[in-house]
Amino acid sequence: MRVLIALGGNAMTAADGSARPGDQIAAVTRAMEPVADLVAAGYEIVLTHGNGPQVGNLLVKNELAASVVPPVPLDWCDAQTQGTVGFIVINALERALAARGSRRKVAAVVSRTRVDAHDPALTHPTKPIGRYLPYDEARVLIEHGQVWQDRGERGWRRVVASPQPLEVLDAPAVSALVAAGFVVVASGGGGVPVTRAADGALRGVEAVIDKDATAALLALTLGVDVMVIATDVDAAALWFGTPQARPIGRVDVETLRAYAAEGHFQAGSMGPKVEAVCRFVEQGGRRGVITSLERIGEAVHDSAGTTVVGVGVAT
Ligand code: ADP
Ligand code: MG
Repeated sequence: MRVLIALGGNAMTAADGSARPGDQIAAVTRAMEPVADLVAAGYEIVLTHGNGPQVGNLLVKNELAASVVPPVPLDWCDAQTQGTVGFIVINALERALAARGSRRKVAAVVSRTRVDAHDPALTHPTKPIGRYLPYDEARVLIEHGQVWQDRGERGWRRVVASPQPLEVLDAPAVSALVAAGFVVVASGGGGVPVTRAADGALRGVEAVIDKDATAALLALTLGVDVMVIATDVDAAALWFGTPQARPIGRVDVETLRAYAAEGHFQAGSMGPKVEAVCRFVEQGGRRGVITSLERIGEAVHDSAGTTVVGVGVAT
């Protein structure tokens, strides 16, 4: 059985959100325990991950060092975070596998995701990233062409485009590695966004792609059986954050979409995860699960999380 696991922010930072190198290594090391159990049990595993805090930190460095070192574009930051997160994930996973006597190999692939050059999201940035700044500091960056929004009390924040992923361009490399027995880390941070020009040339774009949206596309492209979105809650809930909150267990796409339409899932956090599992199952995936890191194993064995199953799949 082939499984794609998408790791959220809490797999890569401390519980309080700190992202010092030691915090990131510790979080990834914890996250790799259930993953290594699955690999050792014989599952084919592909991993993907977010990169919000990591890209946020790189942007701060860009800003502070701009007069000394030329700032790099956002697609470079995406690629850089695939490198660093991929590096710590393969290190931690290899170690966890060795501890289980498994000799499976691991690899991380720098992965590009094609987006449409005419995606309206490219001209209407909506995704807030990086730190809050007072207006006089944000102004300098606005003058350099960035889009910043007044976020009230906390200050101004940069917003960037978040286009829809259309194609995981490096999926053939991922497939070949999986077929050769590797556990593969791919499409980190949703993949480096690129557009294809008429002459075929690929060009990076200043955007970040939602990692859950790309996870669904990668899962479909690789033909995985089960997609698990691992975050910091055991399940998506109805009336989240109220005393009436009720976790959602097994559900069909239609019902889950109806809950989404009723506004149960926050945009920018649970919303994209719900959308991703729905898309995965609608387009042929067998089972999509949203659960916590700790329950990845149970989710794969079909006994935890918000679980969406396709039509015709035995329940
Ligand atoms: P990650 O960083 O793991 O990708 P996010 O932090 O973006 O994930 O999203 C997970 C968060 O979504 C939860 O911690 C919770 O605060 C929030 N959330 C919003 N709506 C819901 C809901 N209906 N049910 C559960 N969690 C929700
Ligand atoms: Mg988070």
